[in-house]
Amino acid sequence: MQSPRNIFLTGFMGTGKTSVGRHVARRLGWRFVDLDEVITCSIGKSIGDIFEDEGEPEFRRLEHNNLLRICDEERQVVSTGGGVPIDSTNREVMRNNGIVFCLEALPETIINRIENKAENVRPMFNKGDSGEGIEALKARRQFAYSQADWTVHTDRFTVEETTDEIIRGLGLLTNQTYPTKLQTSHDLAATVQTSNGDYPIWVGRGILDEIGERLRKLKVSGTSYVITDEGAQKHGRRVQAALESSGLPAHIFILGSGEKSKSLEMVRHVYQWLAERKAERAHVVVAVGGGVVGDLAGFVAATFLRGTRFVQVPTTMLAMMDASIGGKTGVDLPLGKNLVGAFYQPTFVLSDVDVLQTLPRRELLSGWAEAIKHGLILDENLFSDFETGSESLLSLSGNIPMEVIRRSVAIKANVVSRDERETLGLRVLLNYGHSIGHAIESTTGYTQFLHGEAVSIGMMGAGLISHGMNLMSANDVTRQQNVLKGFGLPIGWPELDVDSLLEAMTMDKKTSGGTLRWVLLEKIGRASTRSDVPIDLVRGALDELKN
Ligand code: NAD
Repeated sequence: MQSPRNIFLTGFMGTGKTSVGRHVARRLGWRFVDLDEVITCSIGKSIGDIFEDEGEPEFRRLEHNNLLRICDEERQVVSTGGGVPIDSTNREVMRNNGIVFCLEALPETIINRIENKAENVRPMFNKGDSGEGIEALKARRQFAYSQADWTVHTDRFTVEETTDEIIRGLGLLTNQTYPTKLQTSHDLAATVQTSNGDYPIWVGRGILDEIGERLRKLKVSGTSYVITDEGAQKHGRRVQAALESSGLPAHIFILGSGEKSKSLEMVRHVYQWLAERKAERAHVVVAVGGGVVGDLAGFVAATFLRGTRFVQVPTTMLAMMDASIGGKTGVDLPLGKNLVGAFYQPTFVLSDVDVLQTLPRRELLSGWAEAIKHGLILDENLFSDFETGSESLLSLSGNIPMEVIRRSVAIKANVVSRDERETLGLRVLLNYGHSIGHAIESTTGYTQFLHGEAVSIGMMGAGLISHGMNLMSANDVTRQQNVLKGFGLPIGWPELDVDSLLEAMTMDKKTSGGTLRWVLLEKIGRASTRSDVPIDLVRGALDELKN
């Protein structure tokens, strides 16, 4: 038999169709599709609301139509709702368009799994339903589940083991060879070299669920402490589930979103939480979130028990491109940002590009500013991709976004590997746009602009100064402006107050001996530093930013 068009996973709720489906898809390099998610997106309502507002027959109709729609495509692993195979036409559709695998579990296993995942309970099954209810409903559906091409009993299996079984079954049914082991090498975007050893940065799609497996490969087997925040908690919980399904016990701590959480007060709360759970040095702190979570969790990991193992799972573009790489961790004091901190490197950084889909658009654009900056300072080809691939990059569709993120990550990783503790002046190039950007952020109390937006205005100022110093050509300044504008980033600020910005800049920590050290561009893709920029030139550039 040829490789099938698609793989369909059927089975009762709580049998792991979604987590397993994601793993199987990753292993095969296919697309993962969750039928429930497709239905929710197509109608803009949760499954529960569809049941409540329109009734079960309408839901089943939507289920059937969307199943048909999905079957227009191939090389997909489709996780189906528990009721899908009951309808004989659905069974026929699946049989005609691929191979059907059924995931089985005993009612007591199902009850256990559902209780641990109360918020995702399907409408057919409200909290409080007894074990008999599940048993009866499952028994009624069993004839339909038993018609799958292959059945895997999941009770004693982790997600990875169930995945292995499906791959094994697929091989036997089709007489073909499929990858039996998790391959991490093709996700490797860069390796950061540090005095304490090297660590990988993986960038891929759908790899969040593999975190437990990857930790296990590194012989990490202790308890995990997931630290996340409200905005990223969906992903934090998924990481927690993935760790547990690999047999790693995982606790979760959810911070309030925003910079206010990056405080010593919050650090104290997290220490307390870890101590109460008897966290040990060999256990692992897992940061799942943006730069705020990464900086705080990293600082906690650096200091709790004089250093516990630490893993970064960045979920904002800024954190993927920048904050998660390089080992800078820390918190703010009332007197200023990032005043307390430590250099502390993670065991690995795992970036799943798919999580960016839930990121508010403004945050996403602000994050792209960092990648554009990497192109501007060190890689003209990367910058050109922003000129030619903006549509795909803005919609996060296709392969271009992942490739661009990988290259940008590799640039940052390379710079921090060569200048781990910011002593050689190489890391300073990453501060292109930061002199003005930081001044804008501090004079506006960090409320008006996101970091990438302030840096975008700052890069325009630095570009104008570079041109004024006879470095960057007018044409390159225009190219920079067009890309920033095209990515919805600000290129000026009409309310800018030149004097207060100049004052803030001289207060900035990058001031050395009273002279401001500017990162300027000689051309797109080549940056250097200068300490001899005349103040009138700076004033002139700031004035231009007001227009
Ligand atoms: P952030 O961490 O505050 O995240 C922005 C918002 O997005 C938050 O509300 C968060 O809850 C939400 N969020 C996160 N992931 C999400 C997702 N996938 N879907 C939906 N919402 C999501 O902000 P940031 O821009 O990521 O990071 C800013 C912080 O990073 C600052 O504190 C800054 O000092 C720090 N930083 C550190 C470094 C470093 O080298 N350590 C470098 C740059 C910036």
